[in-house]
Amino acid sequence: MKKCLKGLALVLGLALAGTYGVCVQAMLTEEEQIAGRQQKSEAAEADDGPLIAIDPGHQGPGQDMSGVEPNGPGSDIMKARLATGTSGCVSGLDEYELDLDVSLKLRDELIKRGYRVIMTRETHDIDISNIERCQVANEAGADILLRIHANGSEDSSVSGALTAAPSSSNPYVSDIYEDCVKLADDLINAYCEATGLYNCGIWVTDDMTGINWSDMPVTILEMGFMTNPGDDAYMADEENQDIMVQGIANGVDAYFGR
Ligand SMILES: [Zn+2]
Repeated sequence: MKKCLKGLALVLGLALAGTYGVCVQAMLTEEEQIAGRQQKSEAAEADDGPLIAIDPGHQGPGQDMSGVEPNGPGSDIMKARLATGTSGCVSGLDEYELDLDVSLKLRDELIKRGYRVIMTRETHDIDISNIERCQVANEAGADILLRIHANGSEDSSVSGALTAAPSSSNPYVSDIYEDCVKLADDLINAYCEATGLYNCGIWVTDDMTGINWSDMPVTILEMGFMTNPGDDAYMADEENQDIMVQGIANGVDAYFGR
């Protein structure tokens, strides 16, 4: 049974606050900066459409998970710079794998639709914090940042998709607040219309490092619950992933009025 609990946002907020990232001075290495510039120039040659930054959530195992970083510019609140995601209850997939699989398909679809794309990662073996993910998009001058994730819950009956947006009182992104809400709204509606997954709506949060450090409109898409058998089986299916990507791209088109 599909259900999306009211108050889920609060529960999720608390749960995700523990699982989402944390780090420190968060400077990209020279190698990463060069790689970012190369990706940008390749994308720039493809077209002159809006530049979309895609951030596939998490990373593979083997990284040092101990570092922390402030959850907003000037913030005293420190969060883990790297975080382990959830995993599929029937698919056996780890979230970082699903996030990248879908993100790579999304990259190709957006380029097909005339967008330029920059990726924060295209491999699992990478140490890149939530601040650093924002910096890749900020330094590239991206028009929007899409953070691709899947959800987890202790209650396997909880299902559905949601997007995240800051509140109107968020001190870090007040200048892009309205655009963030529009992006989150356009994305979740188009995604759920395409996939038929339950629409949990917009989750309002000011705790996300990967939102608070963004210079451009940003949202986190939680594509569904990997802890729910129905959602997990749906998202793990290759053909369904093509539909998911169509939905996300439709949301991007809606945002840009294309
Ligand atoms: Zn995640």
